[in-house]
Amino acid sequence: MAITRRDFIKGAVATGALAPTLLNLPFVDAAPTNEWAFENHIPSVCTLCPGGCGIKVRQFKKKAIRIYGNSMHPISLGGLCPRGVAGIQTLYNPDRIRYPMTQKKGSGKWEKISWDEAIKIVSEKLAGVRSKGEPHTLVAFAGQLNGLMRSLAEKFLRVYGSPNFIDVNPTTKPDNAIYLMQGIESAPAYDIAKSSYVLSLNGDFLDNGASPVHMMKSYAEMRSRINKQRGKLVYAGPRLSITAAKADEWIPIKPGTEGALALGIAHSILKERLYAENFINSHTTGFADWVDETGKTHDGFRTVVFRDYSPIAVSDITGVPPEIIINMARELTRLKPAVVIGSDVSSFNYQSVYTRMAIHSLNALVGNIDTAGSVLIPRPFPSFPEEVELDQTAKNGLAMPSIKEDIKKKHPLCLDASNFIPQRCLGGIPYKPSIILLFETNPVYDNIYAGEYKQLLSETDFVVSFSSFLDETTQYADIVLPNHTYLERWGDSQNFTNGGVPVLGLQQPVVTPFYDTRHTGDVLLEIGQNLGESFRKIFPDISFKKLLMDKFKKVFESSKGNVFGVKYEAAWTQLLERSGWKAYSHTSFDDFWQSVLQRGGWWDPIYYYGEWNRVFKTDSRKFEFTPLILGRTLSSQGTKDTELQNLPHFEPLPSQSSEVEYPLMLNIYTPLVFNQAIDSNVPWLQDISGSYINSGWNTWVEVNPETAERLKIHNGDRVVVESPKGKISATAKVFNGVMPNVVSLPFGMGRRANGRWQRGIGDNPLEILDKAIDQLTGETIWNSTRVKIYKI
Ligand code: SF4
Repeated sequence: MAITRRDFIKGAVATGALAPTLLNLPFVDAAPTNEWAFENHIPSVCTLCPGGCGIKVRQFKKKAIRIYGNSMHPISLGGLCPRGVAGIQTLYNPDRIRYPMTQKKGSGKWEKISWDEAIKIVSEKLAGVRSKGEPHTLVAFAGQLNGLMRSLAEKFLRVYGSPNFIDVNPTTKPDNAIYLMQGIESAPAYDIAKSSYVLSLNGDFLDNGASPVHMMKSYAEMRSRINKQRGKLVYAGPRLSITAAKADEWIPIKPGTEGALALGIAHSILKERLYAENFINSHTTGFADWVDETGKTHDGFRTVVFRDYSPIAVSDITGVPPEIIINMARELTRLKPAVVIGSDVSSFNYQSVYTRMAIHSLNALVGNIDTAGSVLIPRPFPSFPEEVELDQTAKNGLAMPSIKEDIKKKHPLCLDASNFIPQRCLGGIPYKPSIILLFETNPVYDNIYAGEYKQLLSETDFVVSFSSFLDETTQYADIVLPNHTYLERWGDSQNFTNGGVPVLGLQQPVVTPFYDTRHTGDVLLEIGQNLGESFRKIFPDISFKKLLMDKFKKVFESSKGNVFGVKYEAAWTQLLERSGWKAYSHTSFDDFWQSVLQRGGWWDPIYYYGEWNRVFKTDSRKFEFTPLILGRTLSSQGTKDTELQNLPHFEPLPSQSSEVEYPLMLNIYTPLVFNQAIDSNVPWLQDISGSYINSGWNTWVEVNPETAERLKIHNGDRVVVESPKGKISATAKVFNGVMPNVVSLPFGMGRRANGRWQRGIGDNPLEILDKAIDQLTGETIWNSTRVKIYKI
């Protein structure tokens, strides 16, 4: 049954029920079509990290002069981080690439060419490789692509016939613990706004990660509850991060021991029988000992935790006193609802699969899954599957193995193949790329195999970059087809809220592009036009904007959710959808599109609790303390069967160097202003990068006062930080916010390219990292490197 908002309001006004609400209707900005106005406020989306915050840009006499938060956007609710505000300096950046360019590879002598020439060169190269029957040798490295742009790039590769669309350092990876224990292959949502107790085990969710502004807004909501209990945040980790500083308690623990701490807390919960018995009985397996089909008895979670993780044993591992561990267990079970959060999978706070499992076990133990204020599995977007008719060349190409094909044989839980691709390709395994496309990614700066990426790009016949800046990776391209900045182009951003509901933000141009740049989506569509009839059928001669409108049209036709609105509108949508009625208040797509332009996007603000088949997709359709899939994967690999291999447990970080020669643990972190930064050649951000420690415009190293005294290092000394891999220099900052015998280095400086406010400033800590890899996941173990420091 369809009912429009007008029908609803008509009826409600007749009874007088809505009169007070209508009087409070907010002022909604005009759509950005007011040609005669001096001033407009245009909604869009910040794409400087994957967070997807809603922005508004104040435009005065057609110039963008300020960026601020869109209060209607459900992710950022009117807030922005410093990077979002400083985005204006990306738009007006003097070091942007202004037109298409080519160079003799590696020469650094770039020459301007026209768009016609550039598109012709790229189209001919692509057509040439295809006509040789080698479409599979096209490789695309993609970083921060989201929404339609991501689907378009993926589709381009598919229609061309390449299985090689590769995420390099994907920023929103799923969490292996959620995958193994719940069978879910996407990231979870942490509903901290409704939590009464949040326990972060080295999870810097307010500093960096997928969406720091959204987390900050949820945290603020949790803290400022009126007439209800104010939520509590406890943080355990080796460094006083922003998240730790905002917590009620910071509990310093030895690096890499969070898994042991989680299991110590579990021990106390079990001992005092504080666990959620009903949830354990109804929705979990592997808690108690169990018998397999051969009759063999296996230890369950409870047995292992009781046996190995008493608070005293865990105190020895972590350095946390036993009474604090016991107290954490009591609080976690007393303050409900609660949630336990580990590190973001894309951060430098590496946590092994078993550590992540140990942390997530706590959520199950106290029943913190799929209830308000706990761990949620985001509802999916409406999906619009599309059939494409591929030609024989594409079919042949797609039948070839991908360049990451058998990585999972060695690293069965690998989510991110970026550590292996260059070495494999250089060795011709399974073949060498002939053309590489680079989309918003910079592995020559932010991957520990930067040298190998350099070599791969240098040796590949033809490399195309779509970057807006001459960053470290673009230096190795043959041709650059510069994209508009995010404030000059159309796009969309698919995200979900901490409440687990889908959000689709609209990115719209807030100014006319300044330079001779082009939307990468339009460029791909135009190149597609040059690649033959089969391509033209799938890539019609239309603009990216038109494709984007088609996507929003499908969302409109799905009759789900609504455009962003004020709280009462979201409540109205929820009320109608829950009653099984169509919630839309727009009678046509044009009407809907105008609302999206004015308000900034669409969302579906309802989360349905208790859909267990959606929340648990394991074979057992339950939460598995002993994931069956992990057991199967490890056995198929021939891994020695141990009782522990399927269970959460603690394993110390591997170390590749001597504790005597290198007595300090290295902790790398990303300051909020450099979060997921690929193009932040922005002076405002350099200026505030280390403001909390009186630093900036150079690399600093944080040293505990006790350690500094022992090493006779003073605040402000220039020091060398040396590992077996190499050395970098930094300014010593003597700081209580780092544990004794641990030193912290910020990531985000030490750029060798990219622009005047980044190039040559500071050092890159990745240059001294051990190349330690987790065998199960293939991920870099960021926090196992040992170093020494001394005065220059
Ligand atoms: S958190 Fe990310 S998306 Fe949000 S304002 Fe900051 S940089 Fe932009």
